[in-house]
Amino acid sequence: MTRHVPALVIGGGISGLVCAYALRKSGIDAQLVESSPRPGGVIKSVSRDGFLLELGPQSFSGTPALRELCVELGVSNELLQAPPRAPRFVLIEGELRPVPLSPPAFFVSSLIDGSTKWALVRDILGKTIPPDADESIAAFTRRKFSAQLLDRLVGPFVSGIYAGDPERLSLRSAFPQLYEAEKAAGSVIRGMLGLAKSKTGPRERPTLHSFREGNETLVRALANKLGAALLTETSVAQISRQNDGSFDVHLENKHGGESVSAQSLILATPMDVTGKLLSRLDSSFEAALGSIDYAAVAVVSLGYRKKDIGHSLNGFGFLVPRSAGLRVLGSVWNSSLFPRRAPQGNALLTSFVGGTTDPAASELKTEELASLVHREISPLLSIKNEPAFSNVTIWPRALPQYNLGHGDRLATVAKACSRFPGLWLTGNYLRGPAIGSCIDQALAVAEEVRKRLAA
Ligand SMILES: Cc1cc2nc3c(=O)[nH]c(=O)nc-3n(C[C@H](O)[C@H](O)[C@H](O)COP(=O)(O)OP(=O)(O)OC[C@H]3O[C@@H](n4cnc5c(N)ncnc54)[C@H](O)[C@@H]3O)c2cc1C
Repeated sequence: MTRHVPALVIGGGISGLVCAYALRKSGIDAQLVESSPRPGGVIKSVSRDGFLLELGPQSFSGTPALRELCVELGVSNELLQAPPRAPRFVLIEGELRPVPLSPPAFFVSSLIDGSTKWALVRDILGKTIPPDADESIAAFTRRKFSAQLLDRLVGPFVSGIYAGDPERLSLRSAFPQLYEAEKAAGSVIRGMLGLAKSKTGPRERPTLHSFREGNETLVRALANKLGAALLTETSVAQISRQNDGSFDVHLENKHGGESVSAQSLILATPMDVTGKLLSRLDSSFEAALGSIDYAAVAVVSLGYRKKDIGHSLNGFGFLVPRSAGLRVLGSVWNSSLFPRRAPQGNALLTSFVGGTTDPAASELKTEELASLVHREISPLLSIKNEPAFSNVTIWPRALPQYNLGHGDRLATVAKACSRFPGLWLTGNYLRGPAIGSCIDQALAVAEEVRKRLAA
């Protein structure tokens, strides 16, 4: 027997959860299918030995849609904000140096030399035109500013978001605001200031958040709202299109198989899975989505007794330029940002290893990764003893890479999608990997589905 649903969402990470929730909120009987036993995708919070670990994302930006969602779900009183002025450090010449947080602080900072500062002035006073061809973040930074800015700040910042390689990441796809700023104003800095001024409403400082019980609070709240509309441990075996334009989706779980006919089908699965699931409809989905790279990342959480750490850990954590010769990409000082991350008298530090510039790192054994991180961060933080606790999570396909040509690949996908009215894609490979961007996109897709079903 075939069950009919107006909307079926496949993939219960944050993208799929939010999309299904928003559809149901607007009165549409949407169902969500997730292949694993728990929803949330890469968002996972785990308590062990008194430590509250984030196995995937460590925190998230407080976007307006996310805050509104927390209010609707009744979890806004669980929301925690990291100290907004917590300094971020970057490793320069063996020392952790604070990253300047404001434009004036930037100009007086010893992190960058006179010629980089002069390049910033040249950008403010001058006029440049971005090239027609897709430009890498590295080429853009060298063209507009300096190799030093690329090495010391832009490269580490990019690896903090994408675990990617600035020589391969596309500026236009990964940081569209910077591209648009130069295109519109002839200057990146003037363009960005203009963009900030044009935004309506009160000016907000970017803030970083988590929840008292970890990031998974948001996932649990969404899953609770969905109730029986969320089917876990259920995977999609096949998708085909019916003559009436609806989608026939064959689902499988431990109880057997079932056919669902969906008027609207939303894929919120990782892009390689999406490509495969849609290959029977059109082979160009798999060709375009399968060619987008992922970065593998190892997340290494180490717990230390505070008395064994010489550094004050007063800050957000640090990033490491690739020229420093370490394998650690950066570290987040969890217990300095949010309460109850470590037992009394202990500190929790989470470091990232791997990314596209060090793919071999994710092949290392978990004990090797833990000792590598301990070895590399100990001299930087004056750590005198072995960690009291460790946990390693390897994500072989952690973050999609918005590399050169990403825009063209997505255009191919959008063209293929347009041949199947009622089919939508959402997820972290489309409009930014951050949780806030995934939420914004999932809400936008839900709204499009709602409009189509109402028409
Ligand atoms: C290590 C790491 C650190 C990060 N740090 C941050 C950070 O600090 N801040 C931030 O904002 N973002 C961060 N991110 C990015 C952000 O967490 C992700 O981009 C986002 O959570 C992705 O959500 P998603 O729903 O699009 O995809 P996913 O979380 O990948 O969810 C996809 C879901 O689809 C399911 N699925 C797969 N195949 C099938 C199938 N055949 N049928 C049904 N279901 C299927 C999967 O099980 C999964 O639940 C980080 C990511 C990682 C990995």
